[in-house]
Amino acid sequence: MNYLARFIASRIPPGAAARYCALLSPLVIVVLLATLSEAATRAVTVGIYENAPKVFTSDSGQPSGIFVDIIEDIAKKEGWRLRYVPGTWAEGLDRLAKGDIDLMPDVAYTAEREKIYSFHKEPVLTVWSQVYAPKGSGIQSILDLNGKRVAALEQTIQLETFRRLAASFELNITLIPVPDYKTEFEMLRAGKADAGLTNRFYGLMYARTYGLEDTPVMFDPAPFFFAASRNASRELPDVIDRRLIELKQDPQSAYYASMKRWTAEEVQLKLPSWVKVIGLALGGLVVLVLFLVIGRQHAAEAALRKEKTFAETIIDSVPGAFYVIDARGRLVRWNRYLAKLNDLHPDELTGMDSLRNIHDQDKESIARSISDAFAVGEAEAEARIRTSEGERTFLFTGRRIDAEGTPLVVGSGIEITSRKRAEQELLRYQGHLEELVERRTITLQETNVKLQREIEERSRAQSELRAALVDLADAKERAEAADRLKSAFLATMSHELRTPLNSIIGFTGILRQGLPGPLNEEQKKQMEMVQNSADHLLALINDVLDISKIEARQLQVASAPFDLRTSILRSVQTVRPLAEKKGLDLSVEVAPEIGVIMSDQRRVEQIALNLLSNAIKYTEAGSVRLTCAVHDGSILTTVEDTGIGIKNEDLRRIFTPFTQVESGLTRRYEGTGLGLSICKRLVELLGGTIRAESDVGKGSRFSFTLPIPERTS
Ligand code: ADP
Repeated sequence: MNYLARFIASRIPPGAAARYCALLSPLVIVVLLATLSEAATRAVTVGIYENAPKVFTSDSGQPSGIFVDIIEDIAKKEGWRLRYVPGTWAEGLDRLAKGDIDLMPDVAYTAEREKIYSFHKEPVLTVWSQVYAPKGSGIQSILDLNGKRVAALEQTIQLETFRRLAASFELNITLIPVPDYKTEFEMLRAGKADAGLTNRFYGLMYARTYGLEDTPVMFDPAPFFFAASRNASRELPDVIDRRLIELKQDPQSAYYASMKRWTAEEVQLKLPSWVKVIGLALGGLVVLVLFLVIGRQHAAEAALRKEKTFAETIIDSVPGAFYVIDARGRLVRWNRYLAKLNDLHPDELTGMDSLRNIHDQDKESIARSISDAFAVGEAEAEARIRTSEGERTFLFTGRRIDAEGTPLVVGSGIEITSRKRAEQELLRYQGHLEELVERRTITLQETNVKLQREIEERSRAQSELRAALVDLADAKERAEAADRLKSAFLATMSHELRTPLNSIIGFTGILRQGLPGPLNEEQKKQMEMVQNSADHLLALINDVLDISKIEARQLQVASAPFDLRTSILRSVQTVRPLAEKKGLDLSVEVAPEIGVIMSDQRRVEQIALNLLSNAIKYTEAGSVRLTCAVHDGSILTTVEDTGIGIKNEDLRRIFTPFTQVESGLTRRYEGTGLGLSICKRLVELLGGTIRAESDVGKGSRFSFTLPIPERTS
């Protein structure tokens, strides 16, 4: 439809349609006289084929037709000697290409043909192509040819033009190439083809003969020339041009005579006058058909415009940039999005450099991607674009297309600014995370090293501690061994000391008794002092022996029944002289339940004596009182005095060996400081406890317990 519309719009001026229709009516042509020329001097060979009335062989075998008339006229004037070479259209063209003939008539101009042949400039004829068909075919437009067989002259522009025309309507037409129009019309008559292409000249002349009629389908008005062989001199086309212009200027010339003879007049002569009326009616019909065709064309154009608007709306609605770029990188098509991105009106983008607003750093890569798309067919590139809203990032894709021989790149651009930003954020976060991990790793390593060092220090301290403990155990062992050795030594020594001391005491006693002879007063006094010292020494040695034995764990206590009451009373009796000497009131109270117990009598008496002696020793006035009774499941013996008393802080240490509350030169009381220590250990060996209470200046109370034997309890 496009083609036809263009053709109608460009070739037919408004209101001119009727003029073309008038072609159906006989033309009145003025015949001019041809001028005589000089005698022929030059041989020119001319191809002849069958395409009456333009060129053909007459029934008498003479070359005839419009082209023949004109070339004959020119030959006559130029003095050429013409020789005709008959053949088909294709054969004629072949011969001309090879240079076998000089001229071929009735050739339409094409650029292709100009490469092979020479053309003059002034057309001989302008001929319309037209579709002819058997009468009553009903063909009203080219669309009616869909599915039909159409015969056409082979190797003609007419055939190629029609092929393109049919293709533009997407029609399915079987084209049958024929060597000449005669064959074509015979085929149409025989029903071997449904329609045929021919020129109006031939159609006008022969349609009736073959029972055919012209259809409203006319196309491609083309100028026809004599084509000259390239081998021949350029002179031939130039002469033909010059002569044609002359002929056309003169209404009386052979040119118009020939036209009249072969077209209008011939047809007019053959047609009866009533045909004129029918012709006019047919002309009216053609006008009607043309209007119909134009109407359909308008509708098609409107549909096309609608299609275009729809396509543009879609492209403008795409949420991204759309563009078409030519090989020079210039924008050829675009959508509103792209225009807005460039802050321009869509019309302002025409021919704009496509890299105009691309970020400088991305220009090179985008240019390469564009050229890649042209070279490889497809490309993708990322680029930043400077816009009034700031820098935005797009992903561009492009694909090469071939637009009727012109390579273009069609592409789109999708905004990825926020995606890009998110990616960068992620990268930054990753970097931070890595830094954090690295920092943490370093801290961890440092802590590890510290921990390792601490572990090492601890294990060193532990082994030192172990070594110290071993040393300590050794030392303890050694100390204990030394202690035992010392105690054993003291025990041995005390024993060894006691033997001679007993001898001294014994003999002193004998001397004092005067058994070996009487002693004077002084001697008696001195012997008494010896005896006292010896007694004191013996007591000391006994105490040392006891404590040593206890420390050396060598002291054994006996467990035998004895009467505790008797033992206690005897002990009190022993110290009575000492109490009387100091004027103290010594009393004893043994509870009736106290009787025989299982214990070590000597040691129990030693304890009682010691406590009684101390009470008398540290009491200057008042009383000393001993009580013995069962208390809290044991036998409790208490020695109470009204003596000097003991300070609280001293109470804690009076049971430690060699401890005396008063020591040094200030000491007023004799003693070894061993008595209470020995008492404590003995009580414990006997299964009891000992304790002391005191008020300084008021007196002291010492008490010890002994277990109650089952028999007495
Ligand atoms: P000593 O032989 O010196 O008396 P002891 O071991 O018997 O040694 O007594 C230790 C110390 O306890 C004495 O030196 C004395 O200071 C004090 N002591 C013991 N008994 C009494 C008491 N009844 N009254 C006051 N002080 C006492």
